[in-house]
Amino acid sequence: MTSYVFITGGVVSSLGKGITSASLGAILEARGLTISMIKLDPYINVDPGTMSPFQHGEVFVTHDGTETDLDLGHYERFVRTARGGRHSNYTTGRIYESVIAKERRGDYLGATVQVIPHITDEIKESVRKGAGDADVCLVEIGGTVGDIESLPFLEAIRQMGVEMGHDKVMYVHLTLVPFIPTSSEIKTKPTQHSVKELRSIGIQPDILVCRSEDPLPEEQRRKIALFTNVPANAVLSAYDADDLYKIPGMMHEQGFDEIVTRQLGLDLPPADLSEWAAIVEAKQNPTAEVDIAMVGKYMDLKDSYISLVEALQHGGIHTRTRVNIHFTESTDLEEQGLDRLRDMDGIVVPGGFGDRGIEGKIEVVRLARENGIPYLGICLGMQVAVIEAARNMAGLEGAMSTEFNKDTPHPVVALITEWQDESGEVEQRDEASEMGGTMRLGAQQVSLLPGTLAAEMYGAETIEERHRHRYEVNNNYRARLEEAGLRFSGLSVDDLVEMVEIPDHPWFLASQFHPEFTSNPRDGHPLFKGFITAVRKYREGELPKVAEA
Ligand code: GLN
Repeated sequence: MTSYVFITGGVVSSLGKGITSASLGAILEARGLTISMIKLDPYINVDPGTMSPFQHGEVFVTHDGTETDLDLGHYERFVRTARGGRHSNYTTGRIYESVIAKERRGDYLGATVQVIPHITDEIKESVRKGAGDADVCLVEIGGTVGDIESLPFLEAIRQMGVEMGHDKVMYVHLTLVPFIPTSSEIKTKPTQHSVKELRSIGIQPDILVCRSEDPLPEEQRRKIALFTNVPANAVLSAYDADDLYKIPGMMHEQGFDEIVTRQLGLDLPPADLSEWAAIVEAKQNPTAEVDIAMVGKYMDLKDSYISLVEALQHGGIHTRTRVNIHFTESTDLEEQGLDRLRDMDGIVVPGGFGDRGIEGKIEVVRLARENGIPYLGICLGMQVAVIEAARNMAGLEGAMSTEFNKDTPHPVVALITEWQDESGEVEQRDEASEMGGTMRLGAQQVSLLPGTLAAEMYGAETIEERHRHRYEVNNNYRARLEEAGLRFSGLSVDDLVEMVEIPDHPWFLASQFHPEFTSNPRDGHPLFKGFITAVRKYREGELPKVAEA
């Protein structure tokens, strides 16, 4: 039977509850347990798919194509056995949607449908579904204790504790212990209040994880223990780490996994954290350094591209390279020119929606292509590469994606329903009506053309990667683009373009899928390792120069 650890947060949000949960998952897994991980989000949106990355950061796409909270990305990067999916992320909106559908179907047999028990039962059922058959399921509750929206979730997890007992259900509470510089004091009061709030709804935390700048002094640890009824050894200090991947080790040293396994009655060998130590060691001892420009929009909010940033760092870990990412707003380049990119060793254009900065991105591709700078394009970054090739290699003036110009004379990227040949005839494909304006989501198989850079990077002929996009390269233009020097090195089962490259360029590769969603620090990812290797060589002048036109 699965045991549960519920992780709540107090005082303020953004304390790193996702990372704390993921780290606990990592150290429990390192003791031989299988782990499942769930995020409960109290907001009303049914899923984060439609939320602005400005407000909410990246939308993480799971293997099965669910658009989820970015914390699920942390879970998959930290925990191998936790593969997220449809049942790993529930919002208030999704819970209500399901309850209302049941009510409409008459499932409640005329009962008055209420928050307790109907909403709370739905939450409990969802949690059990998400837990699967893992040894331990970690459930993170978004928001902070005291929010109105969180109440039904907290009530549901309280009930689970009563129903299953103290040896099957545990509560971890993450709080802030601020340091007030003017009086040079560490304040435990917000933590006391936050735990009081939690206890007032019937939840006594078993473990407190206290976030602070510096390690929590013994005096404050004892004080917090006394006021919150938590044993002092279970008041853990999560002080600021200069590296995310140090956190599993930091939490293990303080006995996090030991306290959990003991309460849950699990007798296990000690945690083997050697892989995590190796990551930290590699990051601290790079043998070279590179500068990479990431050109997109929303560059102010780094969380919008968190998986990609991590994947590039993983490439750095596995090649012992310090990767400096320079976040560059495409619109700034449009206004000020591309000069600032000339010192870069590599360029990445990430995924994106909307036309702001699109011309800037196309120009960035041109710069990379003409100057032999390693280029990695992802999703929209592949589409702009195709547009650039169409305009400047194939001479298709005004080529564009119909996402940005419905009337382009050369819709080289378009919704499948919009594909047409030059006589204006619209391509008829069986799936066109189905796929029309909907998003292609989740993992799909990709065949790689032997002998290409793509196949060399992956060392495989078929791969599986995740998607999140609507527009596709228009197959009617493939022959002309190929003639002009673009190579389609990856194709989907249904003959859609998945990867493009430029054989005349030392390292130019772009994918319609999002490889960043399957990268993790321990294994790295072939595409990112390969990219960083090329970027390093470029910096050291070892990459062949681009063929003269
Ligand atoms: N906007 C493009 C599309 O929908 C690319 C999406 C993306 O980069 N994720 O096809």
